Amino acid sequence: MKVIRLRAGKERSLLRRHPWVFQGSIAKGGADAGETVRVESDAGQFLCWAAFSPNSLIRVRAWSFDESERIDVAFFARRIEAAIAVRQRLPVASDALRLVHGEADGLPGVVVDRYGDTLVAQFMSAGAERWKAVIADALLAATGLGRLYERSDANARSLEGLEPSTGWLRGGGATELTISEHEWKLSMDVAEGHKTGYYLDQRDNRKKFAEAVRHYGCQRVLNCFSYTGGFSVAALAGGAESVISVDSSAPALARATAHVALNGFDPSRHQALDADVNQTLREFLKAGRTFDAIVLDPPKFAPTAAHAERAARAYKDINRLALLLLAPGGLLFTFSCSGGVGPELFHKIVAGAGLDAQVDGFILDRLGATPDHPQTICFPEGEYLKGLLVLKR
Ligand code: SAH
Repeated sequence: MKVIRLRAGKERSLLRRHPWVFQGSIAKGGADAGETVRVESDAGQFLCWAAFSPNSLIRVRAWSFDESERIDVAFFARRIEAAIAVRQRLPVASDALRLVHGEADGLPGVVVDRYGDTLVAQFMSAGAERWKAVIADALLAATGLGRLYERSDANARSLEGLEPSTGWLRGGGATELTISEHEWKLSMDVAEGHKTGYYLDQRDNRKKFAEAVRHYGCQRVLNCFSYTGGFSVAALAGGAESVISVDSSAPALARATAHVALNGFDPSRHQALDADVNQTLREFLKAGRTFDAIVLDPPKFAPTAAHAERAARAYKDINRLALLLLAPGGLLFTFSCSGGVGPELFHKIVAGAGLDAQVDGFILDRLGATPDHPQTICFPEGEYLKGLLVLKR
């Protein structure tokens, strides 16, 4: 077993059970990509068993802090069974959910979503890549399912020096699927869609949106960065008279249109707009249009804290425009999925947007990811999706 020796004082975060070691913390030692290593402090104290990533700034990702644990086939089976067991206790109103959420489930670099009878996995670190076949078999055994599609094509993989890799790992057949979420149906192509096919982390916020649209009687709804129209279907289910979905992806919008029909809503209540959100908000403002509810769910403007300042300006601008476009008493569901923008900073950004728009509002709710995308106490980096529900005064 190869040993990675840390520099003096650099053991502190591992002792707090934070699972990452950066390149600069390592005094000596190395290994092949994904190889299991023993990580020790400067004084030779055992810290963790980990996977080595020779090409990543995050050089080491901990598998286990228990010295007596072996990193083998049984280890991965235990971790996957534990992740699935806890999901069975969570309130999930869907047949699609995240089964494994990387570090939060003690499996750094491994993300697994279930869509009905199909599993979709991302292997994002050298360690995850090395154990891919073992993890695939453990997933099938723990779920009793036979189909596993790989979507290891996210940018994070290149930071590990890994090539994109997609396709059936186990089983095969159609990649076009339909799932149930709350009271509605949604479809996706797990081979083509964003991430693993759909944004499961917004499931409960879509329900909250439907409920708010109904409670406040919102008639005219604008869903910005709509993707395949999950929030649009929610708005229609909540009784909205008209919903506009804006996205720059034509295939996503085609699916949004299909989702309106799939759920039995009159197509005349929905408009799909293939356009840039920033430009659309400006045009609507110029045209004097107003809305009773607006969703802003943009892509990650700040992948890391280093991008936070530029991202903050972009978030502020769309929030300012949305606040101006809302009728008095209207609702803003505004989100950021940037890990580099924390909830406090996001609140400040929306406050700045309100100041510029000369609009104040009540914060009715603070929103986050569904509990199947858990945050853990020891790994603050796991918090990424945050949102505010604002009632314009
Ligand atoms: N709210 C969605 C998820 C949104 S993901 C859901 O609940 O499923 C972000 C979306 O923003 C993607 O679909 C992407 O195509 C779109 N997008 C990114 N930049 C855009 C821009 N400048 N204008 C319009 N859409 C954009």
